[in-house]
This record gives sequence, C-alpha cells and structure tokens, in this order.
Amino acid sequence: MENLNCHNFELQSINGDEHQRLVCLNCGEINYKNPKIVTGSLILHENKFLLCKRAIEPGKGLWTIPAGYLEENETVETGALREAYEEARAKIIIDHLFSIFSLKKINQIQIIYLAHLNDNYFAPGIESLDVKLFEYKNLPWNEMAFPSVRWIFEFYKSYKNGDNLPFSKED
Ligand SMILES: [Zn+2]
Repeated sequence: MENLNCHNFELQSINGDEHQRLVCLNCGEINYKNPKIVTGSLILHENKFLLCKRAIEPGKGLWTIPAGYLEENETVETGALREAYEEARAKIIIDHLFSIFSLKKINQIQIIYLAHLNDNYFAPGIESLDVKLFEYKNLPWNEMAFPSVRWIFEFYKSYKNGDNLPFSKED
C-alpha cells in the first residue's frame, strides 16, 4: 500500500521528458498530471434513449447518460457496463464506439459507446433520482446536465448505420 503521507513534491526537469514534472523528494514518485477518462453509453431501447436524472452535483436534478470515471485496472467497455448498472440498474449490450470528446479545460477525455438494453429492466441507482426513456423528439434539451450530453444527441441526428463513427469534438 502506497504511503500517501510520504510525498513532498517539487517541480523538476526529467531526462527525456519535455515537460517539467512534480517529483517526490522522498520516494522519487512522479506526479503526472494527465486527463481523467470518463466512460459511458448512449443506451437505446425500442427507439428511445435512456437518461438518468442526477441525484448529486454537478448537474443535480438534470438529465445525463450513464457515465463516470474509469476505475484503475478497468477496461473502457467494462467501465461503461458498470456505470450503466450503478446509475440505472441497467444491463446493457455495447454495440460500438460512438464518440470521443477531448475536454481540455476540465482535463477530461470522454469515451461514449452506443449500447442497448439487454432486457426491459432499469431503475434509479444510488446516484440517480429517476431513470426514464425518451423519444428523440421529447428529449429534455433544456435540462441536460452537461454540454457533452447535448453533443451526443446532436451527433445522433446525423448517425446512420455506423457512418461517420466515431464522432469527435473538443472543447
Ligand atoms: Zn513520496
């Protein structure tokens, strides 16, 4: 187990690295600042889209797709399955990669799959107040928790049989 009290970081130059890095003066660990990876899925069922009403900030009370931070030692796909179950109690089948967003300002990479429900069941998980299926024409555009949720549905409009995949966008 790593001793988190050990660290005493100082900015240093490292051989072979163009950036200066925070290096621990005690144990030599390098504190790399890399983007965090979010994994999630746009889930379809009978031509409707599954959305979760968030029970926690940010975006409490607003709608989002099931998504969250990838855990250590987890694949991106397994993380998307886990998030669908945690937030919507949904067992999903992943169809394919749908979109990749590079959010430079908040230092985040979002990897979103297109998926469908394995059965009819879904229910609010601990991070959700409600889970619902929406037809495209009834999507809650003004109550979406994050800009990237809106982007996903804008991309979906131009999505046809796997053409243009994966969609990408940066901010
Ligand atoms: Zn240390």
